[in-house]
Amino acid sequence: MRDLWDKKAVQDLGDDLLALRVYSSRLIGQAPDLVLHGGGNTSVKGSITDFIGETHDVLYVKGSGWDLATIEPAGFPAVKMKALLALSQFETLSDAQMVRAQRAAMIDPSAPAPSVEAILHALIPFRFVDHTHADAVVALSNTPGGEGRIRNLYGDKVLVVPYVMPGFLLAKTVAQMTKGIDWSQLEGMVLMHHGIFSFADDAYESYRRMIDLVSAAEEAFGDEPHAQDGASMPISALERATIRSAVSGIAKRPMLASFDDSGAAGSFASQKDAADIVTRGPLTPDHVIRTKRIPAVIEDDVIVSVEKFAEEYKAYFDCHSDGTQIRLDCAPRWALIPGKGVAAFGRQPKELKIIHDITRHTMGAIRRAERIGGWRALPERDVFEVEYWELEQAKLGKGGSDLEFEGRCVMITGGASGIGHACAHRFAERGAQVTVLDKEDAVLGAFDSPSITGMVCDVTDVSAVADAVESAACRYGGIDVVVSNAGIFSPSSLIEEMPEADWQRSIDINLSGAMHVVRASIPFLRLGWEPSLVFIGSKNVPAPGPAAGAYSVAKAGLMQLARVLALEVANDGIRVNTVHPNGVFDTAIWTDEVLQARASHYGITVEQYRKNNLLQREVNSMDVAEMVCAMAGSAFRCTTGAQVPIDGGNDRVL
Ligand code: ZN
Repeated sequence: MRDLWDKKAVQDLGDDLLALRVYSSRLIGQAPDLVLHGGGNTSVKGSITDFIGETHDVLYVKGSGWDLATIEPAGFPAVKMKALLALSQFETLSDAQMVRAQRAAMIDPSAPAPSVEAILHALIPFRFVDHTHADAVVALSNTPGGEGRIRNLYGDKVLVVPYVMPGFLLAKTVAQMTKGIDWSQLEGMVLMHHGIFSFADDAYESYRRMIDLVSAAEEAFGDEPHAQDGASMPISALERATIRSAVSGIAKRPMLASFDDSGAAGSFASQKDAADIVTRGPLTPDHVIRTKRIPAVIEDDVIVSVEKFAEEYKAYFDCHSDGTQIRLDCAPRWALIPGKGVAAFGRQPKELKIIHDITRHTMGAIRRAERIGGWRALPERDVFEVEYWELEQAKLGKGGSDLEFEGRCVMITGGASGIGHACAHRFAERGAQVTVLDKEDAVLGAFDSPSITGMVCDVTDVSAVADAVESAACRYGGIDVVVSNAGIFSPSSLIEEMPEADWQRSIDINLSGAMHVVRASIPFLRLGWEPSLVFIGSKNVPAPGPAAGAYSVAKAGLMQLARVLALEVANDGIRVNTVHPNGVFDTAIWTDEVLQARASHYGITVEQYRKNNLLQREVNSMDVAEMVCAMAGSAFRCTTGAQVPIDGGNDRVL
């Protein structure tokens, strides 16, 4: 572990305790070998004068919902020391009582709830207290004879605490173990199978002790052997979609899946004992709410493998539940695909990243422990208690949402601007992960939403389309919704005078392009969640106009494609519907000049022309996007083969 303390950076902080606390907490939070994604907690003891002028000794302790890596002073609610110490004297204290009592002892009742370890922090008679789940220390404690190793390594300067549930029970245990001891000889505490504390009156001293203690544990494992490169196989797009489909089925809701078959994950998965190793339990129970106790192991039959996981998870729950808990879904949160790599499952990309980071660290720690005698994780029962601990589950509460398309993958063609662009935003706002294909490079920078990714692809190029569809499916393990929107208007021309190139170009893009995209997407849609295909048609299909033959004929062909497709894929549960927009003037083709020209052609003003429909209402691309989302959503659950105009009402279409 490197000591990252920068003397210059703290010079200006003087003796501002909270500022120093923020500084060293961030150093810890930025070291993934110490804590991952919101794990760990830190505190500093100080005093504060409240609203009515009374001064209190307080514990500034990490508040829930904050991540040490990015924490700010507001992330450390001040809790009265007197109350915390009094709570530590209680014989028993339920979680609900503890949460309420801690909240009542806060100086600012609107600050975030204090860490579940606040009482323990208060008990430790040093100004600064740091707590992490350092990989090396936990790995060492997860070996047979781990306690002895730790005692040998640290001697008397570290208190070794046997595993108990975090929270009040842990605080109580430490209070009993330290009755009458001389704290001044201690630099820290190791919590078996859980983590490590360091403490000191000085911010740097407490941080340095953490670094030194963890470094010593790292050295106990000896040098890292050179990673062998196992020959791993890539995980194909269809295999990803099959796995995601099986996991979503068990979860009873759409899950995103991200896969890692690159160097380290690939070679790990290629080792003979990988399946045995990953199913031994978590690094620290702190991770269980993200990863569940163990991953699924995906053998050749994906569905059977995922179902086996679910059965075993159910049995684990039934075995340890006392009847008061409500079982979570039985779907895995990660999986090992032997010989290939690993997968993470979740509702949002952020969750997937957290899971990948945790599992990577877990695999590394298991390898280390195996080198010095074996890996022995916490017994199932203890893992269960933390997994179903309401205070842990509460941490996830804020993560989910009720957005209709959360966990779903949408692919849109032709989206650098106009209707496709609007659709991408609409789907993303409703929780979807969207991939937009467009032949223009502009698509790469067309979106500032992290949920939308642009990809360059010309729909007339059959093999480019196949590649793009596979890439889109690889991102989160599938495609649930395809919006076929890419298209062009052709220059006005009577059929008698139609330039061959204009005709061919319209057919190539508006009709054949859509066909290429749809054909390549069907195998993925078949595995999708409530799969749906939406075609952007045109008013010109039911109500053609003169001099627009190339466009109208191609769009009419597109309709026949949609109708035949609706027949062919209904058995797979894939819905195929079409929207017929007209007069959507906020798109690129309707420049001011074109609008002016069309308006004067009809002898009306531009303003009148914009609303030239039965409802006298301007139709814009967001209106179309709204309809497309509805078609892909539950409102159209029982509808396929439909064509719906969105044109403000047109007497030729009615
Ligand atoms: Zn902890």
